Amino acid sequence: MKPSSKDILKRHGWRLDRAVHNFVYFYFHKQYVFVARWLTRITVMLFSWLKPMKAIPEFVYNRYHSKVLSVSDVTKILSLEKSLDIGVDKNKRVLPFKYANKIFIRNPKLIAVMDCPCALNQKESERCHPVKKCIAVGQDFAPIWLDHCKEKYHATQITQAEALEIIKEARKTGHVTNAFLKVATGGITGIICNCCPKCCVELESTRLSQKIDPSVSQYAPSGYSVRHDPAACTLCGACEAVCPFDAIKITDDRLVYDIGACMGCELCVENCPDNALTLYNDPDKLLPLDIELLKTEL
Ligand code: SF4
Ligand code: SF4
Repeated sequence: MKPSSKDILKRHGWRLDRAVHNFVYFYFHKQYVFVARWLTRITVMLFSWLKPMKAIPEFVYNRYHSKVLSVSDVTKILSLEKSLDIGVDKNKRVLPFKYANKIFIRNPKLIAVMDCPCALNQKESERCHPVKKCIAVGQDFAPIWLDHCKEKYHATQITQAEALEIIKEARKTGHVTNAFLKVATGGITGIICNCCPKCCVELESTRLSQKIDPSVSQYAPSGYSVRHDPAACTLCGACEAVCPFDAIKITDDRLVYDIGACMGCELCVENCPDNALTLYNDPDKLLPLDIELLKTEL
């Protein structure tokens, strides 16, 4: 047995079901996402009128969710020199989910990248490019991908600078940067996904679940909101077009911003040609996954 497989068993202890789930999730990434997508579609198609059905996405999202990251937050994660452990009991202010909330990265310079299962599940002519953009940071994920996903998903080892470059390139085509957490992978952070508005199963799943109940989301907002400067704004509509969460609308010659819907992903700020938008740390929202800030705040 490879050391990374032994690591999975050790991580989950007596919960052999979670170890198997962990292995299946990584080894059959494409098939796993295919099933998740269709289960969500079928559930919503049949039961969107039945409010108690929101218990299903809530159950899943409490165990499998992501934290939206700003460019500066992800840059700090990808500049870590040493292992990071914020402390389990304090993480709820960053990740308001019941489980999977350990902000913990061992050996952060060990990084792997592999094909995105959401993109692989799209027809070749319709999927976003590049396909290889799922990033595993640290000892708890990168070795598993490098040991088991080389042939299937083209997993390779990369440097921190290369990982950041992949993220910056993905953001140029409207991909949301997220830190993923999942009970079945140990409930710790370390997977960084670039969610494509077209292919991503998480974005689709959140949109569909919100037809059952608008309060349900697989995303934890980044903790930032956006300030708009009407004097600088030319109402070009670039921000509305790029926002994956429909938080900006240009109507009647003015910009309408829905602060509650805004996940603070920063894409609108990056795409505004007139510098009319700025990101700010919003005290009414969750704490950002800003490792410098968390070290002082928590
Ligand atoms: S992208 Fe900038 S200039 Fe264009 S509508 Fe949005 S805020 Fe205004
Ligand atoms: S308004 Fe801007 S920061 Fe908020 S979710 Fe939309 S693109 Fe992201």
